[in-house]
Amino acid sequence: MDQKKSPEYDVIIIGAGVIGSAIAREISRYELKIGVLEKELDVCSETSGRNSGVLHAGFNNEPGSLMAKYCVEGCLGFDKVAEELDIPFSRTGKIVVGFDAEDKDKLIRLKEQGDQNGVPGLEIIGKERIKELAPYVDGEFAMYSPATGVLNPFIYTIALAENAHHNGVDFFFNNEVIAIKHLENTSKNEINSEKSYEIKTTQGCYATKWVINCAGLNADKIARMLGINDYTIYPCRGEYFILDKKAGEFLKLPAYPVPNTKEGGLGIHLTPTIDGNILIGPSTEYIEERDNYSSTQEIMDLLIKDGGRIFPYLKREFFIRNFAGIRPKLVNKDVGGYADFVIEAREEAPHTILLIGMESPGLTSAVPIARRVIEMMSEKEYLIEKVNYDPYRKGILCFNEQPLEKKRKLIQQNSNYGEIICRCETITKAEILEAIHNPLGVETVIGIKNRTRAMMGRCQGGYCETRISEILMQEKDKPENEVIYARQGGKMFVGKVRD
Ligand SMILES: Cc1cc2nc3c(=O)[nH]c(=O)nc-3n(C[C@H](O)[C@H](O)[C@H](O)COP(=O)(O)OP(=O)(O)OC[C@H]3O[C@@H](n4cnc5c(N)ncnc54)[C@H](O)[C@@H]3O)c2cc1C
Repeated sequence: MDQKKSPEYDVIIIGAGVIGSAIAREISRYELKIGVLEKELDVCSETSGRNSGVLHAGFNNEPGSLMAKYCVEGCLGFDKVAEELDIPFSRTGKIVVGFDAEDKDKLIRLKEQGDQNGVPGLEIIGKERIKELAPYVDGEFAMYSPATGVLNPFIYTIALAENAHHNGVDFFFNNEVIAIKHLENTSKNEINSEKSYEIKTTQGCYATKWVINCAGLNADKIARMLGINDYTIYPCRGEYFILDKKAGEFLKLPAYPVPNTKEGGLGIHLTPTIDGNILIGPSTEYIEERDNYSSTQEIMDLLIKDGGRIFPYLKREFFIRNFAGIRPKLVNKDVGGYADFVIEAREEAPHTILLIGMESPGLTSAVPIARRVIEMMSEKEYLIEKVNYDPYRKGILCFNEQPLEKKRKLIQQNSNYGEIICRCETITKAEILEAIHNPLGVETVIGIKNRTRAMMGRCQGGYCETRISEILMQEKDKPENEVIYARQGGKMFVGKVRD
């Protein structure tokens, strides 16, 4: 590795999922030069963009665990984060429904665990109250959690990263970390005056004093590059169905079955998304590969069967798409259940912080986890607060949600608001253009989808995907064969069908 050519950073974060992005934003409060290395072409390309989007209240986690502590903190503190980042979020509440005596015992224990963790307002409710809260959900009794909410995991992660970038953090996409080397540092900069690291990626080298490992499903591999061999991640896939918005009216809050703690998931549940769809899933299936996001017939049948148990109104005509996420588990199938989050600094790799096994409730816990990372850094480093740190970020204005008068004004001011590109979700050209010119400089079709909801409706891009690709080509001056859907190599167009 060539030390001279490497740009120097105080902190390099590996991975731009929700954890890496939350840490980047939190550290950007301080006078440090910070870089984020991400192997994919955008933030939230892996687990952070493939989950239920539930802001968990914290009753599922063992009292005293980091998961319980950070989940409760993350949930209760989320209103402020959502306000600062201008992201949609709703405290819908949630019910966990049961049918028999065994379920009832488990629910009572779950409530006690939640009370112990400091989850507010938990109550056991009967059938009548279930019908008031969720008229189309079946169950003899339930535990109601008023603090639970739903959020859009893409927008949340994007907002964290954009705000970090606004506060000076550099993001490097398409940079897969392939090797890390310890260096004796010669820099005059005080923070770089100790032994540090050179990180080699598929695009170049980066020198840094601190390495924060947030590589999700590859966090064990990055730890090995740092000389720490204690961890193995066991990928555990969860598949989902997405239901059309016309099913959304049947369910206004997440409805879960009583969890089977040995299984390592929360059971196949129904979650209304913040945008009005419903998710059914996820399944819990240990797999070999860390990037096998396939959907399988067997699991799709299971989702229909299990989802239909608590939501008998489920119909196949509601299904518009499926997807899968992969849990980065630190326990294998035989052990089952959950291991706690690993957030640690190790003597053998000074100035590194490892975040491993960040499975659910990692989305909910991201901000308190990031604050813990700052605490750990400040035990070794005097951190100077920036005077001009700005916690606020403005999201893309959603034309469809504006009152009629505002819509008229927007069109008068900018005619691109008058051109609807995605008909299912009513997304205008102005919103598409704003997504294309996003501050992180992402250039994929899915990057536009995740920022605007274009292509997420009933037709799933059947009408607008090519128009959006065309706008992307014009704005970025790209030929057809360089338009990428999501991942490097995933070309939208490979040749002409006819002239
Ligand atoms: C099915 C499912 C449902 C879930 N539901 C919820 C929920 O409802 N609520 C909740 O709170 N939590 C939920 N979670 C958990 C939550 O999604 C995760 O805890 C969280 O997304 C983890 O974020 P992360 O940043 O650690 O990982 P990731 O999002 O995976 O980010 C890691 C990043 O590192 C990058 N990377 C990997 N290797 C390298 C490398 N060598 N070089 C550079 N970059 C690299 C990856 O490309 C990736 O972008 C769910 C998880 C799953 C799987």
